[in-house]
Amino acid sequence: MSIVNAREIMLEAAQGKYAVGAFNITNLIQMEAVIEAAIEKKAPLIVQTSVKPSKFLGRQVLVAIYRTLAESAPIPICLHLDHCTDVDYCKQCSDAGYTNIMIDASKQNYEENIRQSKQVVEYAHSVGDISVEAELGTVSGVEDQIKVAEDEAALANPVQAAEFVERTGVDIFAPAIGTAHGVYKTKNPKVDFERLGKINQILNGSGVKTPLVVHGGTGLPEDYIKRLIEMGGAKFNVSTELKHTLIDATYDYISGKREEYDPGKIDIAVKDAIRGVVGRWIDTLGSTGKA
Ligand SMILES: [Zn+2]
Repeated sequence: MSIVNAREIMLEAAQGKYAVGAFNITNLIQMEAVIEAAIEKKAPLIVQTSVKPSKFLGRQVLVAIYRTLAESAPIPICLHLDHCTDVDYCKQCSDAGYTNIMIDASKQNYEENIRQSKQVVEYAHSVGDISVEAELGTVSGVEDQIKVAEDEAALANPVQAAEFVERTGVDIFAPAIGTAHGVYKTKNPKVDFERLGKINQILNGSGVKTPLVVHGGTGLPEDYIKRLIEMGGAKFNVSTELKHTLIDATYDYISGKREEYDPGKIDIAVKDAIRGVVGRWIDTLGSTGKA
């Protein structure tokens, strides 16, 4: 029960009106911290890596650590490859044992996005029990958040979204709705809740089939998160906050103990900090006790 793809835990989440956290990690300590937090909270979990750390550490190494930790965990855990723009690398990670693959061809034109997404869907499904995520529209960096949020053309068009899902066969879907990667520059970022609701209505109105993903979780106000879950968001990606937590916790520890040379203690400090952040997210997403 512990090794799962993203779609199956998201289906339950969407039906139960809560969301699963997808937490970004770059090393073993973070992977352990995220998993321990989810076990403490009895929550379903998605561990995610970007392409860069996946290549740096090696996808087989990451999968081996994931499988070792997940197989003995009493909760369902998915390993997700985030924002991969390269079809071949999506295939390689499917082969290696990732259980959710995001092909991000959202910067390509619509037809090319469909072509690449479909290719990854077909491959991943032929390899095993792997779900595939794709994106339509622009999930910007925070530098462009307002511009993108106000640009109708940069956001996912609900009718086109339905066609996109139909033609690609993706298992879970990330529509651009104005959320952004990084740290929001305002306390009230512009997010198009209604658009997510409309897409959810079209795709899942008669029963959840294609659960929806919200990117850019870091810094979203709690009431936004609740509303996005209400509108159908069943997975929230959290990356920037965990990177900051890792670096801040390391820096704080070392600055306070500059004469100490005991790396294990730095790891413990980082782990504690990340466990705390992930635990808070799980509570906010409502997935506590759902595993
Ligand atoms: Zn993202």
